[in-house]
Amino acid sequence: MRILKVLFRQLFASPATNRFPVSYAPKSVKALLARASEDSRVINPPVAVPPGFRGKIAYDREKCIGCQLCVKVCPARAIEFIPEEKKVRIFVARCCFCSQCNDVCPVSCLSMSDEFMLASYDKYSDDLIVTH
Ligand code: SF4
Ligand code: SF4
Repeated sequence: MRILKVLFRQLFASPATNRFPVSYAPKSVKALLARASEDSRVINPPVAVPPGFRGKIAYDREKCIGCQLCVKVCPARAIEFIPEEKKVRIFVARCCFCSQCNDVCPVSCLSMSDEFMLASYDKYSDDLIVTH
């Protein structure tokens, strides 16, 4: 009986997700995203991320003191130290979003942003290498 109640409720409930990138099925998602990047098309906003979401790493380069603790704790070896600048760069395509680098950074110059639209054909694109 309980299962029937749940089933009935589900039939009339709004979906927890939304259609993305648009509310209809586009002929070509690739073409649609290309138009969206040229600002000629508005994509369906994604659902809001929950508090504490771990998205693309954000890096405050000015605050970084070059201690390399983040490099040492990163299990994915996604952070590279630049000795001549005493700063780091983060390869997002390698990151497993564990947040250990954020936890260990003594000056809190790393954080996990809300950004999650990270799909790319080029793992070394500017979008996927965080330098500032
Ligand atoms: S979140 Fe984890 S995997 Fe990603 S850069 Fe930081 S320590 Fe490395
Ligand atoms: S732990 Fe923080 S301060 Fe140290 S190198 Fe990494 S980002 Fe810079």
